Amino acid sequence: MILGNSVSVTFRISTALAVLGLACAPAACAPGHAPPHGAETARAALGHPGFAWRTVEANGIHLHYLPGGDAAGRAPQLARRAEAALRHDLALARMPAVRHTVELFLVDSREQARQLSGHGYMGQAIPSELTAIFVVEPGTTPLFRHEIMHALSLKLWGTPRTASWLSEGVATWAQGRCQGHGMDAIAAGFLRDGRLLPLGELAGRFWDVDEMHAYVTAGSAVAFVARAGGPRTVEALWKLDPRPGAHPLGAGGAQMEAAWRRRLGSIPPARLDTASLRQHGCGEP
Ligand SMILES: [Zn+2]
Repeated sequence: MILGNSVSVTFRISTALAVLGLACAPAACAPGHAPPHGAETARAALGHPGFAWRTVEANGIHLHYLPGGDAAGRAPQLARRAEAALRHDLALARMPAVRHTVELFLVDSREQARQLSGHGYMGQAIPSELTAIFVVEPGTTPLFRHEIMHALSLKLWGTPRTASWLSEGVATWAQGRCQGHGMDAIAAGFLRDGRLLPLGELAGRFWDVDEMHAYVTAGSAVAFVARAGGPRTVEALWKLDPRPGAHPLGAGGAQMEAAWRRRLGSIPPARLDTASLRQHGCGEP
């Protein structure tokens, strides 16, 4: 996770975290390069030598994939999933419909992702443009909700002032589930095991914490804030410029955190299959 470089800021997901009205414009579905569209990184990717993109369109989505790759045989299905993820994320955060198409690029390897963006992450959203790049492993579905929410929040809300924990928390809130378990149930498992970090500690050393632990805790906390005050509260927190040492949830944050922990203590805990997680990621959606 890199924050602070305005040129090449990207948001990653790890290997572990690794539909309706579909229309396919004949020109876009034909072999060869799709016509240039999207913002800077998207246009550069479409014109990148050695990438013979095919494109499938769905409402609000251009899904670019490579012939012969794993995604090629199921591109229309993946485009429908991406479209559903976009609708889900907009509704969840009560965001306005976006004017620009979301440009999604599916590649087969981290090396290909690195050629396009400079970073070999399994998933990354490009700030300031509605573009995301995914490495697709055979048989898996990219975490569309997660990266599309990164792209939407960065585009519509701007660069978060409260650093990584919140941007990943918002994306994980959108992702919603892992191995079929809700983020709250997994966080309740951390609480039950005495491993649920205080939010101040999580925010202070987000990238030093076990990745799944960090993402789930942040996602559960953001979901609680959204339920308590509505999505606008999450947006306001995103735009807050906190003074040093302030609680990560802003004014009244300590009480909010205590209420969140009480809530987690009242729901049945779930525990992830870490071996499966390493091999297959979170799974659907
Ligand atoms: Zn992320």
